[in-house]
Amino acid sequence: MTKIAKLKSILALLLVCTITLTACNSEKTNATQQNNTPKSTWRDRKVNIIDDKYRTFYEVFVYSFYDSDGDGIGDFQGVIKKLDYLTDLGINGIWLMPIMPSTTYHKYDTKDYMAIDSEYGTMDDFDQLLEECHNRGINVIIDLAMNHSSSKHEWFTQASNYLKNLPDGAEPDVNECKYIDYYTFTKEYSGGYSQIAGTDWYYEAQFWGEMPDLNLSNENVRKEFEDIAKFWLDKGVDGFRLDAVKEYKSGDEEANIEILTWFNDYVKSVSSDAYIVCECWMDIIYYSQYYASGVDSMFAFDFANSSGIIANTVNGKRKASSFGEALVSSATTYASYNANYIDAPFYTNHDLGRSAGYYAGDYSEAQTKMGNALNILMSGNVFIYYGEELGMKGSGKDENKRAPMYWSKDTNAEGMCDGPPYMEDVRMKFDSLAEQSKNSTSIYNYVKDAILLRNQNPEIARGVVTFHKEFSNDNICVISKEYNGKEILIVYNTAKEAKEATLDKLQINGKAVLEQDILGTLLTGTDDVKKTDTGYTMPAFSIMVIGEN
Ligand code: CA
Repeated sequence: MTKIAKLKSILALLLVCTITLTACNSEKTNATQQNNTPKSTWRDRKVNIIDDKYRTFYEVFVYSFYDSDGDGIGDFQGVIKKLDYLTDLGINGIWLMPIMPSTTYHKYDTKDYMAIDSEYGTMDDFDQLLEECHNRGINVIIDLAMNHSSSKHEWFTQASNYLKNLPDGAEPDVNECKYIDYYTFTKEYSGGYSQIAGTDWYYEAQFWGEMPDLNLSNENVRKEFEDIAKFWLDKGVDGFRLDAVKEYKSGDEEANIEILTWFNDYVKSVSSDAYIVCECWMDIIYYSQYYASGVDSMFAFDFANSSGIIANTVNGKRKASSFGEALVSSATTYASYNANYIDAPFYTNHDLGRSAGYYAGDYSEAQTKMGNALNILMSGNVFIYYGEELGMKGSGKDENKRAPMYWSKDTNAEGMCDGPPYMEDVRMKFDSLAEQSKNSTSIYNYVKDAILLRNQNPEIARGVVTFHKEFSNDNICVISKEYNGKEILIVYNTAKEAKEATLDKLQINGKAVLEQDILGTLLTGTDDVKKTDTGYTMPAFSIMVIGEN
């Protein structure tokens, strides 16, 4: 090689290096710009919070949320300390899992329906929590386990003591002990019944022997619960989450709906604004029927859990278009029982494995994010289980699903709870809030963005959904929501690669979609949506909201 040839090859090499470096740098710059520019634009739009029944709820398990006094158990003062965190996240409703005195850590067996479990604090602490929530525009609903009491509740101890002391062959007499009619006692054993020790009496207890089922057909029991509901409503609670309504009279839908009708009518007669949401853990064809009772909401179980509509849409087992179809068909079904229904979508709760465990592989973080967004952008009152905004893990035994809120990786950090007794070692997959709050691409900031979009656009919670079948396909789902004469469009790409959304022939608000503004995007990678001649290129696992600014 001559000197000149050598020089040429060195120059050529230098040139290649320079081009490569420039290319890398410009790619980096573009990525940063693409990630930040549109995001910062829409995030500056004002929130439009309407003070009505449509809320963004957060399910709080007080026990595992924030410990204010260092005993390892979360408490009301701890929740009060973190209300600003919830407000900042965009939450304006909280569901407190049971707070009444109980024998268990989860407190679904109630010993006294008009008091506070001392592990959580005092009634004064609760009153303070209510006031602090209301000062921030947060509504509070409390869990009411009306299907069963604790076996340590005075009603049950009086009834069972009476039966224990009943002479051989004597029939129980309600005039001697009215509480024997508060439960279902029988000498015939059948499934779902437990025995009173030392007697030949059995009592109904569908969940557990220590949770005897109450007889909600009994007028005296109804009067007790009217007094209980009034007690809490008078304190200022904004409503109730009713536990296990399908077991009120197990297997008898008609009876359960009648019981809910009675309770709902009573509650609304005390406070017409009160909100009631019910847990009826069944398929939609069953839980939708309960809307006939007049209760505001039934939890939308079909959309929740690892094999529900949301997870299956995100993991590709369902086509994107079928998500849109499901939104419309569920709305139609609910409305057929009660036109004033408010859907109550949720993705996970304290009985289900956490969503971060639904996905594995390279796309799992994007899928964890998008599943949350599918939930949060649904109409109605959305419910977010604490810690889902961080992609917390937790599956298997119930205790694991109720692990300490992951404020910090340091288990000794201020406020960290110990978690339920017998909880296994729950290993987290994603960072704690301490790291995620500082990372603009974290699950936390993504979920916060999704809630912000919901709070900026009242159509998201209150809108009536139209599914645009002709613009949707296996990967792209296009829906619009109409509220108060205004429409917004939501476009989802549920594929693991970029897809085209063809929207040039679609109109909302009486004009072409492509002439309207992007009101927000939820992105799971560095690529942004890109406008084309006929629509938009949507990056993998992305969502775009379009409407009039
Ligand atoms: Ca404590």
